[in-house]
Amino acid sequence: MIDTPDAPAFQTLSQRLVELGKTLDRPEAWPLEQLTECGRAGVYRWFHSPDWGGLDWSPVDRIKGYMQLSAACLTTTFVITQRTGACQRIERSENEALKTRLLPDLVSGKSFATVGISHLTTSRQHIGRPTLRAQEVAGGFELEGFSPWVTGVPFAEHVVIGATLADDRQILAALPTQLDGVSIPATPELVGLSGSRTGRLECNKVFLSKEFLLYGPDENVMKQGTGGNTGGLQTSTLALGLARGAIDFLSQQAESRELLTDPAVSLEAEWNQCADRLYAMAGGESPCTSEELRQQANRLALNATQSALTAAKGTGYLVGHPAGRWCREALFFLVWSCPQPVAQAHLCELAGLS
Ligand SMILES: Cc1cc2nc3c(=O)[nH]c(=O)nc-3n(C[C@H](O)[C@H](O)[C@H](O)COP(=O)(O)OP(=O)(O)OC[C@H]3O[C@@H](n4cnc5c(N)ncnc54)[C@H](O)[C@@H]3O)c2cc1C
Repeated sequence: MIDTPDAPAFQTLSQRLVELGKTLDRPEAWPLEQLTECGRAGVYRWFHSPDWGGLDWSPVDRIKGYMQLSAACLTTTFVITQRTGACQRIERSENEALKTRLLPDLVSGKSFATVGISHLTTSRQHIGRPTLRAQEVAGGFELEGFSPWVTGVPFAEHVVIGATLADDRQILAALPTQLDGVSIPATPELVGLSGSRTGRLECNKVFLSKEFLLYGPDENVMKQGTGGNTGGLQTSTLALGLARGAIDFLSQQAESRELLTDPAVSLEAEWNQCADRLYAMAGGESPCTSEELRQQANRLALNATQSALTAAKGTGYLVGHPAGRWCREALFFLVWSCPQPVAQAHLCELAGLS
């Protein structure tokens, strides 16, 4: 049990997410009920200032909350991180009119927004041409191209999206998905987290009025109004949350199977050390670099989920058993906003080079 504010209410919400999670393996599933319950429990308000109806939780409490939620349902929690990334970028922009228009419904959970920014940072960096291009026109911008990865894209009223101008300056805007020229192809099946309904957003000569602009045009818009903490503590938090669920399963199995006790105790100790480092970093200390933390959290997610599957044996390999799903979900941390040094360290470890 992770020590979060309002722990009893949290316990109830977590149990509900575990129950509802069983439906997420179905084709075209989307965690609508889970997201609605999280909204009702005030989760979206943790991240915002009271000016917008938020609760302004401390960074450590947010991390504990995310960790508890991801131990219960990684898909729902991942969707919330992308939603939050969009909402925080909106809140931190200087476009007061747009904030007033969008934030109240977003913070209360009435509407849904998400982010499509990876093509400015980690995706398609080697192809030499921006995937989503913007051209300044009277009253705004014309957008052409696509954003390759947008979580929950079929359900978003707005996508906080990045685009690049011919002179390499960039913009971030809250793009309404109903604009002429915006299209959303069917979302692909993924190795795990298919319920996050992540897919492409395509723009064919889309006119985006200046009223939707959040940042830029500027050299590096991703440095402004950082909301999603891409590649930072948030990804490690969710990896640790997933590991938590798997270690709890192993420990519970160990109660009647003595051979599982030593591995469960060892994983628990490693988890506690990693969680302590994470809380310290969220509180502003530096017990290690964020890359070292990410590497340790990724390793724990992979090791703990595979240990759970080993303990669950063939039964765990049946579709529908959580152990198999946890293993697939753990692979996500090898690719989600994974900084190059962390990816390189994993490759060396897997190849026995370190
Ligand atoms: C489930 C999921 C959900 C996501 N949700 C979001 C979201 O909501 N918002 C968001 O902004 N992002 C999101 N992302 C994006 C994510 O954070 C990363 O940006 C993404 O995983 C990077 O992968 P890529 O295949 O696009 O990388 P790329 O670097 O574009 O790699 C694509 C392919 O190109 C080749 N390649 C790579 N590098 C080179 C090179 N140097 N030279 C030659 N060939 C090369 C490889 O064969 C590789 O398979 C999501 C990703 C996933 C998997």
